[in-house]
Amino acid sequence: MPRHHRGTGVAARRRGRVAGTHGRGVQHRRRITGAAGPVVALTAWQVHAVLSRSAANGPGTRFVVWTQGCSLGCEGCFNPETHGAGGEPRDVRDVADEALSLKEDVEGVTVSGGEPLEQPAALREFCALVRPSGLGIVVLSGFARKEIEASPEMLAAVENADMVVAGRYNRRLHIAAGLRGSSNKEYWAITPRYSADDFAAVPESEVVISPDGTVAVTGMHGWGDDERPR
Ligand code: SF4
Repeated sequence: MPRHHRGTGVAARRRGRVAGTHGRGVQHRRRITGAAGPVVALTAWQVHAVLSRSAANGPGTRFVVWTQGCSLGCEGCFNPETHGAGGEPRDVRDVADEALSLKEDVEGVTVSGGEPLEQPAALREFCALVRPSGLGIVVLSGFARKEIEASPEMLAAVENADMVVAGRYNRRLHIAAGLRGSSNKEYWAITPRYSADDFAAVPESEVVISPDGTVAVTGMHGWGDDERPR
């Protein structure tokens, strides 16, 4: 996943990390429909972090959510802090409202992790709440497209997304360009809103300093074992 690290001040900058990603491939310009019933309830969402404006997590300026929890265990994962317990329980609607409050300022939202599809109900609800606003929706997942398509829950979770970047990260195939993270990962276009070309110019990494002094370092830069910030 795209890396994310937050902290405050110089110390945070020293240990700052980058949030990376995952896949290009066959693009299907269709919308997934009716994989499950109507959205009827909001669900708690275990969230690692959110960032109001990012230029390194998809086309244009984007609101980004990093979910907490991932059991896929990709070797060389950029974001081990997102694997286990932790993060913050958030109401899906609160996170969606935060994104929607920025709809005049951002091109869209990106949901990364952690593994967003290990909380499929929350992801589905978030996308359903954001979709009517016209914001673009990108989901980064370690699950492969065929795994998502085989799971009604996961398929329903991305039915309102525009692009899913799908597949396990493979450190031997690491690429810094775009949002795939490694060349085996696939850009799966659910709608025509984005193509793989739209991701080509995404910066490798970024440092965002908020007014409160919080420093967030995100993007796809791949730290070597001996250069990773502590
Ligand atoms: S899917 Fe792989 S790269 Fe993404 S957070 Fe999980 S272990 Fe890391």
